[in-house]
Amino acid sequence: MSGKKHDEQASLAAGRAAGYCWAPVPGGGGHCTRRPGHDDEHVDYYNGRLSPTDTAGYRWPQR
Ligand SMILES: [Zn+2]
Repeated sequence: MSGKKHDEQASLAAGRAAGYCWAPVPGGGGHCTRRPGHDDEHVDYYNGRLSPTDTAGYRWPQR
């Protein structure tokens, strides 16, 4: 038994409420923090940065 699915859905609701696309990073560790319905690739501006000066972290294509 796992609450992971429920947690993910609650996380999605919270992310959307905050005005984010919130698509999960493939493999986990973050979510897209662009606006919902954006064009081009998903971007997580808060997770996956390689240095503090990076403006964005994970990027991955929409399916
Ligand atoms: Zn996105």
